[in-house]
Amino acid sequence: MLYRKTHDFLIIGAGPVGLTTALFLKKFNIDFLLLEKKSLFSTHPSAHYLNMRTMEVFSEIDGLIEKIENRIENREFFRYYRYCRRLFDKNGVFAISDHFKPNIDEKLRELAKFSFRSPVHLPQFSLLEVLIEKLSEMKGNQQVLLEEEVEDIRPSKEKVCE
Ligand SMILES: Cc1cc2nc3c(=O)[nH]c(=O)nc-3n(C[C@H](O)[C@H](O)[C@H](O)COP(=O)(O)OP(=O)(O)OC[C@H]3O[C@@H](n4cnc5c(N)ncnc54)[C@H](O)[C@@H]3O)c2cc1C
Repeated sequence: MLYRKTHDFLIIGAGPVGLTTALFLKKFNIDFLLLEKKSLFSTHPSAHYLNMRTMEVFSEIDGLIEKIENRIENREFFRYYRYCRRLFDKNGVFAISDHFKPNIDEKLRELAKFSFRSPVHLPQFSLLEVLIEKLSEMKGNQQVLLEEEVEDIRPSKEKVCE
């Protein structure tokens, strides 16, 4: 589809970066259009942890931390990497690696000195759901359109024209 309307900002892609950008623009009531080429969001977990700095950034959006805290998963679910050649291998797992060695609690206590937020375990597909939900709850007419692949952008003199 060819768009001729102009916007102050065009965000391409509804990944964690695009959605976070959209949340902040919406917070300050700044006009944008977000276009995402896919129709559905992947359920692949991809990134698993939100680090302290990410949590600090998210705490600038009212109510977002609470939404994240309602969805966080037990970090032990992601503790071990199990290496095997096939999912159903008669020889089974040939190596296990502890992701939290040597002592995750000690590390977290040490990190707590540097931030007012702690890292949390939230798989990326859950984070995307939370960010989209938050975006839809915030006031404003800014649009998020799925199944719209950006193929070309023509900047106008004053605003982004998509
Ligand atoms: C298998 C896997 C495991 C990972 N594990 C970890 C991990 O453990 N820890 C970690 O920190 N990170 C991990 N990552 C990386 C993490 O997922 C990425 O850093 C993160 O997704 C980047 O976010 P983003 O918003 O920049 O980009 P993306 O998540 O890639 O989002 C970009 C979006 O833009 C859309 N798009 C692209 N081109 C267009 C276009 N022309 N028009 C419209 N839409 C478009 C795409 O469809 C996509 O939805 C992993 C990634 C993968 C694939």
